Amino acid sequence: MAISRILIANRGEIALRIHRAAHEMGIETVAVHSTADADAMHVRLADRAVCIGPPAARDSYLNIPAIISAAEVTQADAIHPGYGFLSENAQFAEIVEAHHITWIGPKPEHIRTMGDKVEAKRTAGKLGLPLVPGSDGAITDPVEAGRIAAEIGYPVIIKAASGGGGRGMKVCTGPHELETLMLQAGSEAKAAFGDATVYLEKYLGNPRHIEFQIFGDGNGNAIHLGERDCSLQRRHQKVLEEAPSPVISSDERARMGKVVSDAMAGMGYRGAGTIEFLWENGEFYFIEMNTRLQVEHPVTEAITGVDLVREQIRIADGKPLSVKQEDIEFKGHAIECRINAEDPETFAPSPGLVTSYHAAGGMHVRVDSGLYAGYRIPPYYDSMIAKLIVYGRTREGCIMRLRRALEEMVIEGVKTSIPMHRKLLTDPTFLDGGYTIKYLEDWLADAK
Ligand code: ADP
Repeated sequence: MAISRILIANRGEIALRIHRAAHEMGIETVAVHSTADADAMHVRLADRAVCIGPPAARDSYLNIPAIISAAEVTQADAIHPGYGFLSENAQFAEIVEAHHITWIGPKPEHIRTMGDKVEAKRTAGKLGLPLVPGSDGAITDPVEAGRIAAEIGYPVIIKAASGGGGRGMKVCTGPHELETLMLQAGSEAKAAFGDATVYLEKYLGNPRHIEFQIFGDGNGNAIHLGERDCSLQRRHQKVLEEAPSPVISSDERARMGKVVSDAMAGMGYRGAGTIEFLWENGEFYFIEMNTRLQVEHPVTEAITGVDLVREQIRIADGKPLSVKQEDIEFKGHAIECRINAEDPETFAPSPGLVTSYHAAGGMHVRVDSGLYAGYRIPPYYDSMIAKLIVYGRTREGCIMRLRRALEEMVIEGVKTSIPMHRKLLTDPTFLDGGYTIKYLEDWLADAK
C-alpha cells in the first residue's frame, strides 16, 4: 500500500526537509515535538503535530514508545527518522516494522552492522573496499595492541567501536603511551556510548575526508551519486562541505563510485547511505558507513538534480530507484555552509531569541532552516540552525555566489558562525582547494 502519511521523528531543518519532499509527493506529514519546540517551524508546517515529551531529547525525540504512540494515534503509515536521534537505532527500526509501519531507512540488520565500526570495517573489507590498516577487529590486550601498532607504524589512532560525532578517538604517538590511552579511550567510550570496545588504526597524517553517496533498492541494485569533500572540520565535526571534491577527477569518481555501488549491491543495501573515506596520496581508506541521510546531502542534490529524500520515500514504498547510474550526470559545483548559533570566537553555543531574520535568495541559492524572526532557539539541542547551499557552474562561480549569499544572510539576536564562513571564503588555501582535515583548526588558531 502506498505511503500516505509520514511521521517525521526529528526536528529543525531536517524535519522541514522531509516535510517538503513529502508534500511535493502528495503525502501528508505528522510532526512530533518536545515541549521546548511547540513554536518550531516543523510543527507549524506539518499537517498534524503531536507533543511527545519534555525538552530533554531522551524523553522526547529519543522516546520510542511516545513516537510509536504518536504514529498510531495519527494513523501515520511510515516513519522517517532524519539524521541523528533514532536514525541509526536498529532496534527502533525493528519496532517500527513490528508495528506494521513503513520504516524509511535501511534494513535493520544493515544499520546494526554498520553502527558497530569494527563490524563495519570487517564487512567493508569483505565487500572489497580499501581499509585503513589496523587491528583486525576489537582489541583489549595491550601487548597484542603494541605488536600491531609496531607493525603498522606509529602514530596510531584508538577508536571506539560504538563511537560517533567525532568522539571516542585518541591519537597515540608511541609505545610508551599506548596502554594508558587504550584504557582512557575504553573508559570514555563506555561512559559516552555504553560500550568500552576499541580498535586500532593507522593515524593518517594529513588526509582529506571524502565520502560517497549511495542508494540501494534492497534487491541487489545500487547506484552512487558521486562524492562530497568534507575535509573542513573542527573537532572532527564538518563545517563546510563541497561537491565535487576539488581533488577527484571524473575517472577516479567513476572508478571509486563503481567500487562502492558494487559493494552496496553485494550486500543488498536498501535506501540512502554514505561511505566515508580518508584520502591521502591518491588512495582511499574506508573509515565508516552512515546508514541514513547526511546533513550535507544537498550539495549532492545540487550537482545531480536528484531529490534524495524523495528517493528514500520511493524505495521505502517498494518502488524502484527513479534514476539509473547512466542517467546521473555531475554538473557544476555546490558548497554548503553549516550555520551554527555559536560564538564565532569561542564556539560556545548561543541559543536565544532571533530578533530578525532574512534568508539569502536568488539564483541557485538554497537555505534549509527552521528560523524565523521571533523564534527562540532552545538550548537543548544541536547548535546548527541553518544550512546555506549554493550552486555554480564552476567552483569559482559557486564561491563568488556563496560570498554574495553570505553577505545577504541576516540572523540577529544570537551569535552565529556566519562571520567565520565569510572569512574562510577569502582564504587562499580554501580558494585553491588544497586543504586537508587539519586545515581548518590551524586556520582558526592563526585567526585568533
Ligand atoms: P565519527 O563516527 O565519530 O564521525 P569517523 O570514523 O567518521 O568518526 O572519523 C571522524 C573524523 O576523525 C574523520 O573525518 C577524520 O577527521 C578523523 N579520523 C578518523 N580516523 C582517522 C585516522 N585513521 N587517521 C586520521 N584521522 C582520522
